Amino acid sequence: MFELPECITLARQMNSVIRGREIANGNHGNSPHKFVWYNQSEDDFARLIKGKTIGESYVRGRWIFTPIEPGYVFVIGECGGKVLFHEPGEKLPKKYHVSITFVDDSYFTITTQMWGAMELYVEGDELERDYIKGMRTTPVESEFTYEYFDGLIEEFGGEKKRSAKSLLTQEQIIPGLGNAIAQDILYQARLHPRHPIGDLDDGQRQRLYMAIVGTVEEAIEKGGRCDEYDLFGSKGGYVRIMDKNATGKPCIRCASVVEKIQYLGGACYFCPSCQL
Ligand SMILES: [Zn+2]
Repeated sequence: MFELPECITLARQMNSVIRGREIANGNHGNSPHKFVWYNQSEDDFARLIKGKTIGESYVRGRWIFTPIEPGYVFVIGECGGKVLFHEPGEKLPKKYHVSITFVDDSYFTITTQMWGAMELYVEGDELERDYIKGMRTTPVESEFTYEYFDGLIEEFGGEKKRSAKSLLTQEQIIPGLGNAIAQDILYQARLHPRHPIGDLDDGQRQRLYMAIVGTVEEAIEKGGRCDEYDLFGSKGGYVRIMDKNATGKPCIRCASVVEKIQYLGGACYFCPSCQL
């Protein structure tokens, strides 16, 4: 799944390559998929984008917004898989769920791995969509200060069972984070995934805040995770410290053996000695 760094990487590349291109036509792909969320019929999608121009893409959380000018916004959300640019004459992917062809015959496709929104809105209406409406501050926004983060801990720490992993991965409390980057954030913050956030002291809160901002920044700088693809089909440069390859091997900080548990809908990899 794309998390914030992968979405930002894609949006930046879209701005350098497809921004300003005029759309010749588009469709909903060649492989009907139960978990791709469209909000238009394929005919309406094709009709509404034809002759329009790609504007400047931007990201909030795990959502990429691309103006289709004038008047519309295309939204890619909660998605994983491949979002690709193709030069004229390149072969189409075997399966894809959206294709947009430009007047110069270059084109753009999206193929989801599991699910994802690929929706077209009249500009402004996208802000009313579930998960976008009321989205909290994301870790790359200037409003994501330590004071703001401390407020989140106060707000959610009162719920006795709310754990560090839950804070990072559930209910979009910190939009854009997901199960992948959360592993390294918890490692950098030296917190066990189950650690209740209600009892974090000031030092631990600061460490967790720094780990969130620092890990997200580093993953963006490196073009996203190495198990996800960018707009040109290349893998990102961010290699996770804590993933399935780390299980059973020595922690790089203290040499204890890294463990794996199933917790909150996914595997967690952590060091039992230095993540408490
Ligand atoms: Zn360790």
